[in-house]
Amino acid sequence: MHHETAYRNLCIATREVALLQRVQDLLEWDEQTQMPPAGAAYRADQAAYLAGLVHQKQTAPEIGAWLRELAHSPLAAEPHGDTGTVIRCLQQDYEKKVRLPQSLVEELARLSVQGQQLWSEARQHNDFARFRPLLEKMVALKRQAAEALGYPETPYDALLDEYEPGASTADVSRVLRELRAALVPLVGALADSPQRPDTTILSRHYPIAAQQSLGQAVAATIGFDFSAGRLNVTEHPFCIGLGPGDVRITTRYNDHDFADGFYGILHEAGHGIYEQGLDRAHDGLPTGQDVSLGIHESQSRLWENQVGRSRPFWEYFYADAQAAFPQALADVPLDAFYGAVNDVRPSLIRTEADEVTYNLHILIRFELEVALIEDQLPVGDLPAAWNEKYQHYLGVTPPNDAVGVLQDVHWGAGLFGYFPTYALGNLYAAQFFAQAAQDLGDLEADFRQGQFAPLRQWLRQHVHQPGRRFTPAQLVQRITGQPLSHAPLISQLNEKYRALYGLS
Ligand code: ZN
Repeated sequence: MHHETAYRNLCIATREVALLQRVQDLLEWDEQTQMPPAGAAYRADQAAYLAGLVHQKQTAPEIGAWLRELAHSPLAAEPHGDTGTVIRCLQQDYEKKVRLPQSLVEELARLSVQGQQLWSEARQHNDFARFRPLLEKMVALKRQAAEALGYPETPYDALLDEYEPGASTADVSRVLRELRAALVPLVGALADSPQRPDTTILSRHYPIAAQQSLGQAVAATIGFDFSAGRLNVTEHPFCIGLGPGDVRITTRYNDHDFADGFYGILHEAGHGIYEQGLDRAHDGLPTGQDVSLGIHESQSRLWENQVGRSRPFWEYFYADAQAAFPQALADVPLDAFYGAVNDVRPSLIRTEADEVTYNLHILIRFELEVALIEDQLPVGDLPAAWNEKYQHYLGVTPPNDAVGVLQDVHWGAGLFGYFPTYALGNLYAAQFFAQAAQDLGDLEADFRQGQFAPLRQWLRQHVHQPGRRFTPAQLVQRITGQPLSHAPLISQLNEKYRALYGLS
């Protein structure tokens, strides 16, 4: 009976924290989509205050007492059951949170709001020097956080674990290197191919209103529920769940770039479908939460790439696209368009990179941020190190920092350890998709008819509904019967692109 009471109290307290966290998220959404620049200072105070309040509630002594009482109770006996999952995950979360001083949590929240604003200014003015002092402070604070959290080998382990529980720097490093070795021959073969798509098709004039309505219609067709979500414009596309029944996705538009806005929507809709697929009955508890950023990213990348860059997908949607953009697309055959959205070439901008070279952008960021956190690379040397790695891995050198080291918001926002989850997401996506195709039969025939529900329901059942019952590694093993591997991604890329580029 005692246990039941402790468990009930723990759940009430945890759901109260979730209420507050969604207020934080709403402020974050507003900051990225609506807030005028002059609002940043006050918003930073609000963010710091709320972060402190959340931290206080998460580390309250009674939480520790309830968890101790429950640790060896029958409620904790089944580690992947409902109550066992809640107790196990909250215990892990609690152990981490109590190690972080509240003052550090508040300072990081404040600096993150300032950092995002300053990053945006610095990028607009192509002025890394303006951003540098804040970034130095951010790196120092993140290192402090890593020291407080503790780590097995390198301080970066502690930061990575925040986003991908159970992953280590050494594992990620190995996976990314193996992936790179497998990608290099394909990238080389594609670069040498005489058969290249005409990408100028995608930079014709695409009126923004039509981009928005086509994007919304496609997102709704694959299963993003607009009665429980909405789409806004931002500088750096993202998705944020503000509670059951309210999932926000964002994109950016350029009237001479079809792919940026469209694939931004598709990507974020994939994240949104995951959020909307979580178990509402368990809202606010680990059983109703996403597992990790890597698994989250697998859902966005799967809809963006495995589905949204496939020929069957465009066989269904291309007539709609031609109707939306008659001037740009009336004279363009389906295969020319399909080739253009699958153009592979080394490029400067991660978010616009094709699915073959994308992971090399991640490898660069991963190596640089590990070096920053391990104090091997001074922030002042970062732009030069960035440019050198782009030359080394992709054979391109940014002409300026705005399209180089200043292109991503992450470091200004304090998101160290986040980038590798993008590459992990690509690997999980390929592995899940291969399994779904095996379980569901002819997915291509489904897509050709605009049928996306079978795939979406498969993902809901296998990936969304379990919440945090399993770690990312366990989830992959359970769903596919195999540990995480780069083999499915490499084989999908080889099959698709060798055909598209006329290689054997
Ligand atoms: Zn994403």
